[in-house]
Amino acid sequence: LELQIQHNERLAMVGQIAAGTAHEIRNPITSIKGFLQLMQKSLTDNQMQKEMYYTEVMLGEVERITNLLNEFLLLSKPRDLKVEDCKPKEIMDIIQPIISNEALLKGIEVCYKVDSISNCIRVDRELLKQVFLNLAKNALEAMGDNGKLEICVESVDDHKSIRFSFKDSGPGIPAYMIDKIFDPFFTTKDNGTGLGLSVCQRIVADLGGQIKVSSKGFGTTFSVLLPVFS
Ligand code: ADP
Ligand code: MG
Repeated sequence: LELQIQHNERLAMVGQIAAGTAHEIRNPITSIKGFLQLMQKSLTDNQMQKEMYYTEVMLGEVERITNLLNEFLLLSKPRDLKVEDCKPKEIMDIIQPIISNEALLKGIEVCYKVDSISNCIRVDRELLKQVFLNLAKNALEAMGDNGKLEICVESVDDHKSIRFSFKDSGPGIPAYMIDKIFDPFFTTKDNGTGLGLSVCQRIVADLGGQIKVSSKGFGTTFSVLLPVFS
């Protein structure tokens, strides 16, 4: 037992150091990004083609680091939730254009079925938005052209909960993998961080909800269940 406690304390300490480091890295990265953007603006000349390309690549990589740091911070830091009552449709109105736009670029069809629900959920909008965008992003990444993403919002549980579901027509998740996908750093992608679903799970749990996945051979459905606030 003594050893176990020591081990846990050490893990917690490593987590704190990592979170602190991630936080400290974010500021210089922001300034690198700003200066790269300025540099790119001043490279309008045709003779600067190569330099334009270099800054483009650097900005892309900076973006990757920023995303990783943000996900990492969401996961490791205890944070204050800014909860407010909100209608499910309000959240959908914010994320719909973002998802549709990304899907359009990939030639994927998205359809939305949003029940008119008068009940409110009590959530941190920014965080919940992040959850849904992560789920949509995973779905889009899993599908090739001609894929289809269905997003439904329904009142369930005798109107005691709201269910948001994301159903894709991708290849599905093999049974042996399904228990691992929520683990931090688990990824099957070359450029993946493996933090997206861990972040989703953490946020949904903080909001008093549940996140579930089902995948049977073809396609995958992620659903987020949140309690209605009355
Ligand atoms: P990342 O997207 O960076 O890989 P995530 O935590 O978001 O990290 O996802 C972890 C893994 O779960 C993915 O690499 C992928 O293997 C699997 N996964 C998640 N969503 C889907 C999906 N909709 N269809 C198929 N596989 C998925
Ligand atoms: Mg992801």
